[in-house]
Amino acid sequence: MRVGRIGIFGGTFDPIHLGHMIIAEQVREELRLDSVVFVPGGIPPHKEASSVRANAEYRVAMVEAAVEGNERFTVDRVEVDAGRPMHTVDTLPILKERVPGGEWYFITGADEVSNLLSWKEPDRLLEETIMVAATRPGYDLAALGHLEARLRNFDRIVPVECSRVDISATAIRRRMLQGKSVRYMVPDGVYEIIEDRGLYEGDGKRI
Ligand code: ATP
Repeated sequence: MRVGRIGIFGGTFDPIHLGHMIIAEQVREELRLDSVVFVPGGIPPHKEASSVRANAEYRVAMVEAAVEGNERFTVDRVEVDAGRPMHTVDTLPILKERVPGGEWYFITGADEVSNLLSWKEPDRLLEETIMVAATRPGYDLAALGHLEARLRNFDRIVPVECSRVDISATAIRRRMLQGKSVRYMVPDGVYEIIEDRGLYEGDGKRI
C-alpha cells in the first residue's frame, strides 16, 4: 500500500485565515500531497507567549472548523497537548512515527523560511522533512538565497508559487480591536466562532 506524501502545516493560527487555506490547498495540489495535517502550536517557542491572543482550545476549534468538509485536511493536537513549547524538529519525529514510510513536507510561508537559521537545528530539520516555502506578499523568494551558503541541506527547501493573499492573523486581530469586519478574511465556520465567543474583541487581553 502506498503510504503517501504528507504535508505538515504548523502555525499559531491565531486565527487561521484564508491565506493559510489557500497555501495549504495550492501546495497540496502542486506537490501532489495526499493529505495536509494542520498542527496548531501550543506555546510557540519563537513568539512571546503573551502575544498569542486566543487560547489553544479556541485556536484548535477554529482550525477544525476551517478544515471541515475537506477530507484531505486534518488537524493534529500534538503540540497543544504537549503543554510546553515544541520545536518543529522535535514535533516531526512524533508525527512521522505515526505514519511509517510517509514522505514529509513541512509547509511554511516564505517569511518563516527566510528566518530558518533562528529555528532549532535547521540542518537536522531539513533531514527530517522537505521544507516548502510558499510565496507570501512582501516576501521575495530570492531572499532565501542567503541560506544557501549556511545550510548543508539547502536543496531541501522547495519554493512553491501560490496566489498571493495579503492577509495575516495580526491584521485580523487589529481589525477586530478596531471593531472592523473580518468576514470573508476567514472561513465562515471560523468567523462564526470568532463572533459567538467574542474572540479578539476588547482591550487586547489574552482570551
Ligand atoms: P501573525 O500575523 O500572528 O504572525 P500569521 O498570519 O503569519 O500570524 P501563522 O499562524 O504565524 O500566521 O502562520 C503559519 C504559517 O503560515 C507561517 O509559515 C506563515 O508564513 C504562513 N502564512 C500565514 N499567512 C500567510 C499568507 N497570507 N500567505 C502565505 N503564507 C502565510
